[in-house]
Amino acid sequence: MALHLYDTYTRKLRELHGIEPGRIGLYACGPTVYDHAHIGNLRTYLFVDFLRRTLEYSGFQVKHVMNITDVGHLTSDQDTGDDKMEKGSLRTGRSAWEIAQEYTQAFKEDLALLNIQAPGTWCHATDHIAEQIEFIADLERKGYTYRTADGIYFDTSRQADYGYLARLDRAGLQSGKRVDIGEKKHLTDFALWKFSGTPGVRQMEWSSPWGVGFPGWHIECSAMSARHLGEYFDIHCGGEDHVPVHHSNEIAQSEARYGTRAANFWLHGAFLKSDGDKMSKSGMFVRLQTLLDRGIDPLAYRYLCLTTHYRSQLNFTDDALISAANGLDRMRMLVVRLGAPGVADDDYLARFGAEISKDLNMPRALALAWELLKSELPDGVKKATILRFDETFGLRLVLWQPAVVSIPPALLELMAQRERARNERRWSDADRLRLQAREIGYELDDTAQGQQARKM
Ligand code: AMP
Ligand code: ZN
Repeated sequence: MALHLYDTYTRKLRELHGIEPGRIGLYACGPTVYDHAHIGNLRTYLFVDFLRRTLEYSGFQVKHVMNITDVGHLTSDQDTGDDKMEKGSLRTGRSAWEIAQEYTQAFKEDLALLNIQAPGTWCHATDHIAEQIEFIADLERKGYTYRTADGIYFDTSRQADYGYLARLDRAGLQSGKRVDIGEKKHLTDFALWKFSGTPGVRQMEWSSPWGVGFPGWHIECSAMSARHLGEYFDIHCGGEDHVPVHHSNEIAQSEARYGTRAANFWLHGAFLKSDGDKMSKSGMFVRLQTLLDRGIDPLAYRYLCLTTHYRSQLNFTDDALISAANGLDRMRMLVVRLGAPGVADDDYLARFGAEISKDLNMPRALALAWELLKSELPDGVKKATILRFDETFGLRLVLWQPAVVSIPPALLELMAQRERARNERRWSDADRLRLQAREIGYELDDTAQGQQARKM
């Protein structure tokens, strides 16, 4: 089954082959751990998870690396402003090191709740300072850097195709510049190493050949991806906001040092919006915990993300979330009633494979799952087939059981009467009794094992 993915670099749907046959090196830009992740961030990690599961479903062995940005991500993409970690420390009154640890842990818990498979390798920027210094030193030897009062910068004018990933109009940007670029020579130049100012004031700082300071955000990912996946690996991904700056700069660094664009494929997930606005850590902010507090199953959010293609923006509304929760519930009920799995249906499996291989078309794959459930196939076949689909959906359908409800005597009596009515084929009585059960707050489902009561 040939897998086609949309590569932002070439703006083409391309067939994926492992640089090493059968294997894929996958790097996903990780979170900046100065605060909780919001559900927009989590949409991006769900996309990465759908990607990884699709790769595995297609038979690839995946080496999945994710970084934790625990230093160097500034509040402005123009290399000005504060380090988000130091700012988070001021906000919480705790040390930058402590909050890095706390929010890394919280992020991992969010991933687990969403059934997102953890990467095989986690890497922290603060554990790779030596690799970053070595990377910058090499760029310096090759003549790509210059020094200003506040740091060491990458000279983007050295590369004719700088910004190709974003199809940046550099001349237009430069002539239309209104922003103060300080001592930077060109608007698009970016910091590789920033000086601490007065040493001892920042909490996170290291000595380097250029002075005490800390690495820039972009060099982190270049140094860590090269360290764990090599100079040229298969897939690099992140959210769509990374195209014009972060990933353009990573590519510039790798081109300069290794002569490669770092990754064969560059994949980007579209944003989650909230009533048309971008969800961001500084603005509109919904955490996974916010949904849990409202009694929403985290997998309902996963289901919602399956309903929209990863390259389309998704507008988050209550209605959309509730209808996803209902869809997931209905699917679970249907699946649990199918009983024991038999043998999966080859035709459905082939159609499923074809959908996910077309640039991860999860919405179509989900529609196919509904078609399967409504089909005339025997229950055991349906069950075996949908469980195979769920290896990629990750909705944990195999584990789900209806909540055991303790049945009040009044309901027990209604159920007994209804059982008799059904046995005697008095259908209108059975329907009337079901309505009475609803009036006292219970839904009665007819399953192969008899009636089951669900609290509504
Ligand atoms: P950060 O923690 O800010 O470094 O972001 C972590 C990931 O979330 C990055 O891949 C971003 O591109 C992505 N991201 C940020 N905001 C959103 C959003 N509203 N929707 C989807 N992904 C986002
Ligand atoms: Zn990155």
